[in-house]
Amino acid sequence: MRVDLLIDSARFILVCDDDATVMPDASVAVADGRIVAVGPAADLRAQVEAERVIDARGHIVMPGLVNLHTHLPMTLLRGVAENVDLQGFLELVWAEEARVMDPAGVELGARLGAVEALLGGTTTALDMYFHHEAAHRGAVAAGLRHVIGPVFFSFPGPDGLSWDERMAAARAWPGQLAAIGGPVVPVAYMPHAPFTVEVDDLAQIAALARESGGIITTHTSENDSENADTIASRGMRPVACLEESGVLPLRPVLAHGVRLDEGDRSAVAAAGASVAHCPGSNLKLASGATDIVGYRGDGIRVGLGTDGCSSSNDLDMFSVMRLSANLARLVNHDPAAISAPDIVRMATLEGARALGMGDVIGSVEVGKEADLIVIDTAVPHLTPLHDPHTAVVFAAGRSDVRHVLVAGALIVEDRRPVRVDVHSLLAEAEARVAS
Ligand SMILES: [Zn+2]
Repeated sequence: MRVDLLIDSARFILVCDDDATVMPDASVAVADGRIVAVGPAADLRAQVEAERVIDARGHIVMPGLVNLHTHLPMTLLRGVAENVDLQGFLELVWAEEARVMDPAGVELGARLGAVEALLGGTTTALDMYFHHEAAHRGAVAAGLRHVIGPVFFSFPGPDGLSWDERMAAARAWPGQLAAIGGPVVPVAYMPHAPFTVEVDDLAQIAALARESGGIITTHTSENDSENADTIASRGMRPVACLEESGVLPLRPVLAHGVRLDEGDRSAVAAAGASVAHCPGSNLKLASGATDIVGYRGDGIRVGLGTDGCSSSNDLDMFSVMRLSANLARLVNHDPAAISAPDIVRMATLEGARALGMGDVIGSVEVGKEADLIVIDTAVPHLTPLHDPHTAVVFAAGRSDVRHVLVAGALIVEDRRPVRVDVHSLLAEAEARVAS
């Protein structure tokens, strides 16, 4: 069999399927952007003739990480709102956005965010930001699988658009998305949160998503004040707004979901919606400690996210995996509350499933698109290496990621992004913020 690429003789392949399969001394073959064979290195060497070979001896190969909640353009706002809670944070950030974030700023910030994400092993991000088309162009140019769509507020919002203008932009989005190209992603619609979008307006977004088959993501119950604001303005809790408007049955990705009560949890589980758990942001803003073990026990799908760089300061999904594991153990007073394979699956396959892409990405299986990362284990902090899942969650860092493929294309090679000149990108970002 002729293939485009053979990732040869990995020390371990973490398949990230439901059985948490680990293959020692194994290889992956890629053709036309897809995984066409996975198995023992000796077998694949005998079966395939590869255009190109990546020597993966001493490396872990696993699916690219799925960041289920972020705001990539906010890389440009990194560090502008420190030592404040969510509400204080929003005030500071919305002021800075007015200064820096026109479409050109958004595109630049998204490109910077995409490069940071890719270098750290993230291949897919569910992003949310206004000027979504500009953000998409920036992220796709860097090679990221980038899920985004129009953001909605029931008031003019940071981009100043009226509701009718937002709806028009939303109707145009599927066509624009197809025209921009890049790795395949679903159409997405992004009401900011039930406290900023009225229930009737949420219902209009649900109708749009039903028509187009798109997905929805929204901030939900990030902290107690958000719940209180929503109850004061809408007369009900955020999850009830989503139920009432018809959003919840569409299986949205609920960003944060820190403060879901029992009723919220059973509604979210019954609907098949997902929570994007963002412990870096939740801890830093003191929003709360989410019990993801309890949520999973209720039947809620949980994926992992970083949130934006003005609340968690970076896009490091390795850090998020470690925080998620340790926080879940602390909250439950149980060092066995959650396993390393569960955490790794939440950062890969569960995130893919939350996006409706569980058959397309999220594991190293034949037929899936080749979103793969190659992690160097020949470093002191990963030696000796008894268990690769444990190493990935509790000891590896994003700088251990050496190669990154998205849809079979090598996007990071030897820790360098292939499609972007990093030095000029950094200079552009600094200049943009200074001006
Ligand atoms: Zn957010």
